[in-house]
Parts: sequence; structure tokens; C-alpha cells
Amino acid sequence: MSVLLPARVFLSTRITPALVGVSLRSKYYDVNPEKGQEWKDITERAVSTLFYQELFRGLGITLAHFFREPATINYPFEKGPLSPRFRGEHALRRYPSGEERCIACKLCEAICPAQAITIEAEERADGSRRTTRYDIDMTKCIYCGFCQEACPVDAIVEGPNFEFSTETHEEMLYNKEKLLNNGDKWESEIASNLHADHLYR
Ligand code: SF4
Ligand code: SF4
Repeated sequence: MSVLLPARVFLSTRITPALVGVSLRSKYYDVNPEKGQEWKDITERAVSTLFYQELFRGLGITLAHFFREPATINYPFEKGPLSPRFRGEHALRRYPSGEERCIACKLCEAICPAQAITIEAEERADGSRRTTRYDIDMTKCIYCGFCQEACPVDAIVEGPNFEFSTETHEEMLYNKEKLLNNGDKWESEIASNLHADHLYR
């Protein structure tokens, strides 16, 4: 029976194997041949996943999107649908006769949380009240829609127009003339939006 000595003991005592009749092990056997394989497998799997499987899956998704309808539109040449409740640029409306709807009750001015509306009014010869000044500072407006909700005659509304950006601050200070022009321009869209939403108001 052979006896194995620890190398430290063997060297410190300077005893040769022949002297003590000890046979040193000349061959070593790997008792766990799977041990190195584990890391190899992990590496191979990682390389396969990163550089082939995921790559081709990604290319497949990209290719599939070539044949799908695009999720984007070619704005400004194409425009998406707008809700009837969309709150865009303000407008003052008229009756079909051409008369202004606004009766200068100032409810919109009172309810505006941004204090963006300024109204001045006077009585006409026929006894009706009409505005002499109706200004909205569009840079103060937060597009809450309260003015539209408060108006008893649907005079001030937020129309469907959202393309009214300007280069100067002054251009965003709307007066009565500008608001009435907006109303004339967008009347058909505004009327159909109000009609579509009238059951919920
Ligand atoms: S939408 Fe709101 S913030 Fe803008 S003017 Fe009307 S009430 Fe004022
Ligand atoms: S727009 Fe409507 S709420 Fe505002 S003053 Fe005229 S009638 Fe009154």
C-alpha cells in the first residue's frame, strides 16, 4: 500500500521516496470531467444567443415591419383624426344671420383660471349688450376649455385648429376681430363637433 505525503513534509524532511518506499503518483485523473464543460457550455450558449439567435430574431422583426402598415403619418401632408372634444385655437361664433352670439355676460372672463380673457362691453341702441373688446392672451391660456363650458350661447369655443404657432408674442394676443375671423373660418367644423358632443354636455 502506498502512502502519500504532503509535498511540504516531503521537502522539509529531505527524504527520498526510495528511502521510505513511498511511490509518488505519476498520473493524475480528473475526477469531475464535467467541471470544465460547464463554462464551455455557458460560453457557447452566450455566443450563440448574442450573435446568432438574437441577431436573426431582431432582423426578422425588422423585416416584418417592412410589410406592416406604418404607425406614423406623413405630417403635415397627412393628419390624424381629432376628437370632437379637441381643444384647439379659440374662436368667437356668429349666428347664421351674421350677428355675434356673444352677449357680453363675461362668464368666460370670470371663470378663466389663467385670467387670459379681457372683455369690455356696452349697451347697443336696441338695448342688447355686446362686447366692444374681447381679447384672449393665448400665451396665458392653458386650454382648459372652461370658457367654452361657461358660455351660455356657445359663442366662445375652442376649435379644431392646432396649427397656429407664431414667431412673436404679439401674434398670440388675439383680439375680437381675430377671434370672429376664426369663428367664420371654422364654423362648419365647430358646429359639427358641438353637435357630435351635445348629448354629453
Ligand atoms: S381655455 Fe381656459 S385658460 Fe384658455 S381662455 Fe378659456 S378658460 Fe381661459
Ligand atoms: S363669450 Fe359667452 S361667456 Fe363669454 S361673454 Fe360672450 S356670451 Fe358670455
